[in-house]
Amino acid sequence: MVKLAETEKLSNPKKTIEVIQKYGFNFQKRFGQNFLIDGHVLDRIIAGAGVCEDDLVLEIGPGIGTMTQYLAEAAGRVIAVEVDKNLLPILEETLAPYDNVKVIHADVLSLDLSRLVEEENGGRPIKVVANLPYYITTPIIMALFEQHVPLENVTVMVQKEVAARMKAGPGSKDYGALSLAVQYYAEPYIVANVPCNCFMPRPNVDSAVIRLTRFKEPPVRVSDERLMFQIIRASFNQRRKTLMNGLRGSQELHIDKARAEAAIAEAGLPAAVRGEALTLAQFAALTDLLAEV
Ligand code: SAM
Repeated sequence: MVKLAETEKLSNPKKTIEVIQKYGFNFQKRFGQNFLIDGHVLDRIIAGAGVCEDDLVLEIGPGIGTMTQYLAEAAGRVIAVEVDKNLLPILEETLAPYDNVKVIHADVLSLDLSRLVEEENGGRPIKVVANLPYYITTPIIMALFEQHVPLENVTVMVQKEVAARMKAGPGSKDYGALSLAVQYYAEPYIVANVPCNCFMPRPNVDSAVIRLTRFKEPPVRVSDERLMFQIIRASFNQRRKTLMNGLRGSQELHIDKARAEAAIAEAGLPAAVRGEALTLAQFAALTDLLAEV
């Protein structure tokens, strides 16, 4: 297996600058192009994701190939999906030493990832690693989970506040619909905090790497998953509202006062409880009660 010296890798800022200048590359804000330039952070991502030589890793957004070099040296195979065609010639050069990397030019949102896993890995679970524009990270994570793409874990760089929201539990100010959506599918673990000076160019915000290890079975059973997430969204729509007012105010749900009151009481919850106090198990129980009628 090829191993480049640390000084030869793109995590060395000099190498990144060299490549950017050679190709006259212009960073595109709309694609969230901030490239990592810190080898320690990259080592921690690879270790945090638990990448080993048996793995097929899907990297979303390789950029100039900085993380891809680390992945290629640790994994069996890497498939890297990059949307910006201007990066393709660069990737060809920076990944030339590796024979276990395949670059796909595509918008990841347009790919059928379950099919990709079937074709490339015989349907066996893969690992996903990504450092993406923040505005598409959450939709991608949710799509991977909801579409049941076979995967072991997803390790992503997100805004520090988003990592806190994904990991938060009831009662915390960060707890919300995103916490519950993520924790229904996966166990979150913060791998590293990443200050903005680890990127070129520097973003305005600090980041964190979070690993989401997919559950084999969801931690709670619920009769209607879709209804549960509608209830969760309604409960957090306006944070200061009680659960009851959240349920009644939802455009999606059409629940009247008597029904909401009865279900809340039957679930053993105080009438004035707020959504932010409920655990995932309590949302599941409430969903089953509301689904009965
Ligand atoms: N992984 C590299 C690193 O850590 O240095 C680059 C990360 S950069 C924050 C995000 C990368 O994702 C960019 O190369 C960008 O062009 C790519 N990207 C943005 N949107 C994408 C999409 N929808 N599908 C695939 N790649 C995308």
